Amino acid sequence: ELLLSIESTCDETAAAVIERSGRVLGQCIATQETLHEQFNGVVPEIAARAHLERILPVIDTAMKQAGVMGRDLTAVAVADRPGLAGSLLVGVVAAKTLALAWNRPLISLNHLHAHLYACQLIDGAPEDIYPSVGLIVSGGHTSLYLCHTAIELEYLGGTIDDAAGEAFDKVAAMLSLPFPGGVEVAKLAAEGNEKAYSFPRSMIHDEADDFSFSGLKTAVRYAIAGPGRQDFSSLQIPEQVKRDVCASFEAAVVDVLVSKSRRAIKRHRDRSGAGRLIVGGGVAANQRLRRDLQAAADEDGFELLIAPPHLCTDNAVMGAIAWKKLEAGLFANLDLDITPGLQRGF
Ligand code: ATP
Ligand code: MG
Ligand code: FE
Repeated sequence: ELLLSIESTCDETAAAVIERSGRVLGQCIATQETLHEQFNGVVPEIAARAHLERILPVIDTAMKQAGVMGRDLTAVAVADRPGLAGSLLVGVVAAKTLALAWNRPLISLNHLHAHLYACQLIDGAPEDIYPSVGLIVSGGHTSLYLCHTAIELEYLGGTIDDAAGEAFDKVAAMLSLPFPGGVEVAKLAAEGNEKAYSFPRSMIHDEADDFSFSGLKTAVRYAIAGPGRQDFSSLQIPEQVKRDVCASFEAAVVDVLVSKSRRAIKRHRDRSGAGRLIVGGGVAANQRLRRDLQAAADEDGFELLIAPPHLCTDNAVMGAIAWKKLEAGLFANLDLDITPGLQRGF
């Protein structure tokens, strides 16, 4: 049994053909990094047009790699939320058209649930991991959930301003590093002194499961250029300063993420029987975050499952979560619409 999974929520056009067992028979990801680089961020109009050009070749490549045709599929799945409207539309219209043409059921996916589900795509991952506490750290979201099942999530809290990935990207832009900046900041951080700057860890002691990263971003800005300066392009920042800023910034972000996840799991271990922390989203690829979360898990005695690094950033393989919706009989209709924004994490 096979399904076709389609992902186009932001700036990756991706498709995968996935067996019920989770085995991936074919997949393709077209990134748009070079298209958005000069703008230091994803430009929605450019993203939508690029998806439109790429979606059919990407699907075709995944299907050919798998050696399958529409008639071999059990269902067509697509992420319909959250994301950029124009980007989502391209994937959703493609999925609806193929579902209609091939006469196959349609399944709609929440992209954030899929990010977390990537944890279960590790070889030998335990099958029944719920209830768990889920941490999503991506370009657009930083949230904690109580996960009753893979597809039933209860929002605990999230960022009140910037997402963690967004902060990485903005700091990268201030340092004139290539877009998207997370990986570049992490690279420099590995060679810097994390104690060189003492950046704020906002809301770290707050009981609520909320986050804030915009104060940290401003502190980095002041550290680089002093208050008031808007134009960074003419600034010559010494390489060692860049490395130290990155290391100190990364340490601040990771400290907050680890400390708040730790608090949430402690609370819910007693209250809800959730003994496991599951983590997904682009920033979950960060080596320091992975290391420090593992250290916390060892110390506090909770189990930790982090999505494998290659399934942290956007991909269609995490659309394997569609099998869970199929098993629950949750199908979408052909009048499926997109939902770009979410209310309180849903
Ligand atoms: P969302 O999933 O919230 O809709 P998105 O799909 O754009 O947003 P992802 O693809 O999950 O986000 O993640 C991209 C983000 O992850 C970017 O902000 C990127 O800088 C960040 N990122 C990727 N790798 C790393 C890393 N090693 N360290 C830190 N950040 C990273
Ligand atoms: Mg992306
Ligand atoms: Fe994403």
